[in-house]
Formats: sequence, structure tokens, C-alpha cells
Amino acid sequence: MEFVSHMQAALDEARAAAGRGEVPVGAVVVSPVGAVVARAGNRTRELHDPTAHAEILAIRAACETLGQERLTGHDLYVTLEPCPMCAAAISFARIRRLYYGAADPKSGGVAHGARVFAHPQCHHAPEIYDGIAADAAEGLLREFFADRR
Ligand SMILES: [Zn+2]
Repeated sequence: MEFVSHMQAALDEARAAAGRGEVPVGAVVVSPVGAVVARAGNRTRELHDPTAHAEILAIRAACETLGQERLTGHDLYVTLEPCPMCAAAISFARIRRLYYGAADPKSGGVAHGARVFAHPQCHHAPEIYDGIAADAAEGLLREFFADRR
């Protein structure tokens, strides 16, 4: 099967999040045969919910659509390195491959900080591909935070 990146859809979700005044991060869940199952952007402000990160919302929506509590064989695209909370959710959901864009040295939990997948207590670690369309993802974040200063 030919590899098709879904990072553009994740970037579209990030842009839409910025339009709602949310930190521009977007995520997409893709099925084992390459179909988009769910897509989401941050909605922490709108939902008054500190856990409403793009990855959490996309995982919840995908599980609800499929009527199952795990996403075995599914891949997740997200524009920014997941935080520790989202990394744990990705592990619990049994995501097969994690593709992310920009690195997040400040709040990331994959290559930085908690490094959630690196611990023996982490029972499932996805394959990780980082730096996918990182410039575009970083640009969105930079613009968003520059506007708010
Ligand atoms: Zn998160």
C-alpha cells in the first residue's frame, strides 16, 4: 500500500483551531486501510476542558465512530509533539503509528520531558515518525502566539 500523508488534514484542523482562538494544533486518526476516521483541533477554551487537546478529541471521536475502546492498527497524525497526557492516551488507544510535526521542547512528552513511550510502565508504544511538515506546524504556532502578544 502506498504511503499517503494525512498531515495536511491535520494542518487544516490546526488552522481551524487558530480561527476559533485555540492553540493551533490538529490531529487526524487514520484506519489500517488509510481512511480518515476522525479529525479534530484543540477546543480547550470552547469546551472549558483542559483535556480537550486535538489528539484526545480525535481519539474519542474515532472510538465512538467505531464503537470500540481501542484503535489497534490505526495511525495518528498530529501537528505538534504530543504532551504527556496525549502520549498516554495514544498508548492506551494502541495507536500503531504516530506521525507528528513540530517538536515541543517546552511541553512535549514524546521526545522531551516525560518521554512517555520510553518507560517500562508504558505497555504499548507506537512507531514514531517526527518532523512531518514541521515548518508549517511551527509557522502556525509562531503566528498564533505572536498575534496574542
Ligand atoms: Zn496533549
